[in-house]
Amino acid sequence: MAKMYYAKDCDINYLNGKKIAIIGYGSQGHAHALNLKDSGCDVCVGLRAGSKNWKNAEEAGLKVMTIPEAAKWGDIIMILVNDEVQADVYKKDIAPNLEAGNMLMFAHGFNIHFKQIVPPADVDVSMIAPKGPGHTVRSTYVNGKGVPCLIAVEQNATGDAYKLALAYAAGIGGARGGVMETTFQDETETDLFGEQAVLCGGVVELMKLGFETLVEAGYEPENAYFECIHEMKLIIDLINKGGVAAMNYSISDTAEFGEYVSGPRVLPYEETKKNMKAVLTDIQDGVFAGKWIAENKNGRTFFNAKRAQLAKHQMETVGAELRKNMLWGDDTDLDTASN
Ligand code: NAD
Ligand code: MG
Repeated sequence: MAKMYYAKDCDINYLNGKKIAIIGYGSQGHAHALNLKDSGCDVCVGLRAGSKNWKNAEEAGLKVMTIPEAAKWGDIIMILVNDEVQADVYKKDIAPNLEAGNMLMFAHGFNIHFKQIVPPADVDVSMIAPKGPGHTVRSTYVNGKGVPCLIAVEQNATGDAYKLALAYAAGIGGARGGVMETTFQDETETDLFGEQAVLCGGVVELMKLGFETLVEAGYEPENAYFECIHEMKLIIDLINKGGVAAMNYSISDTAEFGEYVSGPRVLPYEETKKNMKAVLTDIQDGVFAGKWIAENKNGRTFFNAKRAQLAKHQMETVGAELRKNMLWGDDTDLDTASN
């Protein structure tokens, strides 16, 4: 069983007198910076000169500096720029400003685990990785709750890395939900696997194929959207609340019977498991990481083509129209902290 820490184990007072620099103000960056500020911590945000987030962060009441200034100012430097640019930003703007005894933090293990960033031995290297989107890290904090986090320590130069990282978890609200101890390796591999096989890759492919199957059979695309896409969240909310049992309790017995009969037809057990294992092996061997690093070096041609293709898919266009006309409108707040 994993070691778990809860609010009582995470003393935010260890952050007293510590300056915390949050590098980047995207999904995670804005949430960490604002939550820490509201928790009473001394925070600044490090941004590129001319970034349009500069004004957003200042208007939210945060101190803002350039990335090298923030890295120099901070005792704790949390890197929350995109994973694929972290190595460059680190080399150019952060490494020259690190001091012995600082703590370098991450919300995902990719760059440390795949050795894209190799910090000096005299700094602490830790991770607090919220298991949820940044906007949820903010909204749950504001509502008195928190997104559970993973903690990992790769280097404990000062001997204080655990208590500081746990204090950070308290500061962003994660300790309210629970903090599970792991390693950079396990976090990186499980995170990549989860998003590829189930959460993003698996779910999008499943919804898309379901949507297309209905539309190709002559049903209305709006109906296919409600059935295969919109309702996904309603179902997942039940599972999130009380497991599959809560969903099965709420759906009809007909739906539950169909679940047992047709689920394994759509995802044949042996074959799907074999494919999932192959995805995991590519992650463990660094094959996926190598592809992603190369894709970024080569101008992201595959990535951009796929993104453009998906944007034109009918499930996206029909969905956008339907959501726009829902009584409450499109109520995501994703734009408040976009690039
Ligand atoms: P994001 O894309 O939302 O934001 C990244 C920020 O970095 C933006 O403010 C962007 O303007 C800035 N940026 C981009 N390129 C830059 C450059 N070259 N120099 C300086 N700044 C630059 O990223 P995110 O999703 O918040 O991810 C940040 C970290 O958090 C990543 O390590 C990610 O794996 C991790 N994480 C994200 C989530 C999530 O749900 N989004 C969940 C857990 C962990
Ligand atoms: Mg993730």
